[in-house]
Parts: sequence; C-alpha cells; structure tokens
Amino acid sequence: MPEGHTLHRLARLHQRRFAGAPVAVSSPQGRFADSAAAVDGRVLRRTSVWGKHLFHHYTDGPIVHVHLGLYGSFTEHATPMPAPVGQVRMRMVGAEYGTDLRGPTVCELIDDAQVADVVARLGPDPLRRDADPGWAWARITKSRRPIGALLMDQTVIAGVGNVYRSELLFRHAIDPYRVGRAITEAEFTEAWTDLVALMKIGLRRGKIFVVRPEHDHGAPSYLPDRPRTYVYRRAGDPCRVCGTTVHTAELEGRNVFWCPECQR
Ligand SMILES: [Zn+2]
Repeated sequence: MPEGHTLHRLARLHQRRFAGAPVAVSSPQGRFADSAAAVDGRVLRRTSVWGKHLFHHYTDGPIVHVHLGLYGSFTEHATPMPAPVGQVRMRMVGAEYGTDLRGPTVCELIDDAQVADVVARLGPDPLRRDADPGWAWARITKSRRPIGALLMDQTVIAGVGNVYRSELLFRHAIDPYRVGRAITEAEFTEAWTDLVALMKIGLRRGKIFVVRPEHDHGAPSYLPDRPRTYVYRRAGDPCRVCGTTVHTAELEGRNVFWCPECQR
C-alpha cells in the first residue's frame, strides 16, 4: 500500500499538471460518471493531502476525494490521451497531460464539511506543516495496544504504512510489541522527529530511504527497485547491525518485522 509520501508527491504532481486551468474529468468505466460530470470542465484550484487521503479542490466547491487503498494507482500520459485501458474510474485531462485513476478504495465527490469529517478522524500527518505530534502522543501514552499497531492506526498518525512503521521502530530500538503506555516521551519525540525527516526524504526522492549510511551494505533490498531496509520483509535474514535473525509476526492483520536483539 502506498505510504503518505506517495500521496503528497501525487498531490504536488497534480497541482503542477492541472491546477489553475479547466480540467476534463470523466469516468470511462462509468462508476464515477455522475460525479465526474459535476466537475468536468471546472478549474482545479488546488490539491491537498492528509495522510493517505488526496483531495482535488475545484472552483465553486466540489472536491474529489481519493484513497488508493491497496490497489489504486494513477497513470500519467502526455496528451492526446490514448484510449482508456481496463477499469479507469476517473480520467483527468489538462492541456499537456492527463492521468487515469484505477482501482481506488475511495473516489467520491464531497464538499468542505465532508472533508472536515474525513480529517477529524485522522491523526497528525508528519508531512503537513500543521501536524501536531502532541495529538499522537496523547493517544499513545494512554494506550495498552502495542506501539507497532498504534503506528499503523491512521487515527493516531496519518500516512504511516508498513515500511515506515517497521523501520522507524528498528531505528529507535523499540520492540513493536511494547505497549504505548511504556513508550517514554523522549522516545516518542525522537521517533516523531525522525519520522518527519524520513518521510520528507521519501517525498523529495520518491522512494523510501531508511538505512543509515554506516549500515548501507551487505544484503541488497528484498526486491529489485524496492528500498533497502533494516527489517521490513527481511524475516529469516541476519540483522544488518547485530546479525540476529530478523523476526516477523502478524500484528492486527499486518506483518510486522523486527530484530529481537536490537529492539526492546
Ligand atoms: Zn539486531
């Protein structure tokens, strides 16, 4: 599943490609046809993101809300656009570029009040300037749930996925099963600061970088073109720092990875 930096990159791309001019919006597949017709030909004013939620704000109010979920993706083409291939939920076409959205979990037309409802259910997004880490800390320090689960809970922190979750806990030597109440404020503050920095690197470079230069050697990444990681998808391999076998287990429905020696 795409993590928050990917959504912020898409928002910036769509802003650059489409904002300030009328956009032709359609739904070749048909499932978004009525909503597409309601914004077709309007000017895209701006884009915004909170966590993994992307918003396209059009003139006079309507907002397209997209959540990619596990399978959603945008595919860009230079204009003129080729004929749609497969299940294109939404097609946006500007002067020089167009993009096709396929397979999202959410693609809906909403208004400002509904955006506020979506955002009210989300924790701070580390990539937003208005992010308030105090909100996340207040939730974590009261919780008996494992920190590994809390980090993936979008109502605690919005935008973190499985790679940043597993890697952040490794970088801060925290066992994913330690409960929120047992995390110190200093640990949280250091981890939050690091998370913001890591996600900014992801946003700038379009790829996750989490391994410190002094550990950036040894076994390659788990798949070609994927990030080199300390523990994510490295179960059974030796820890890059201490050599202990990396563990994995299911935690609230998603696999978490950790080094039982480095993380306490
Ligand atoms: Zn280790």
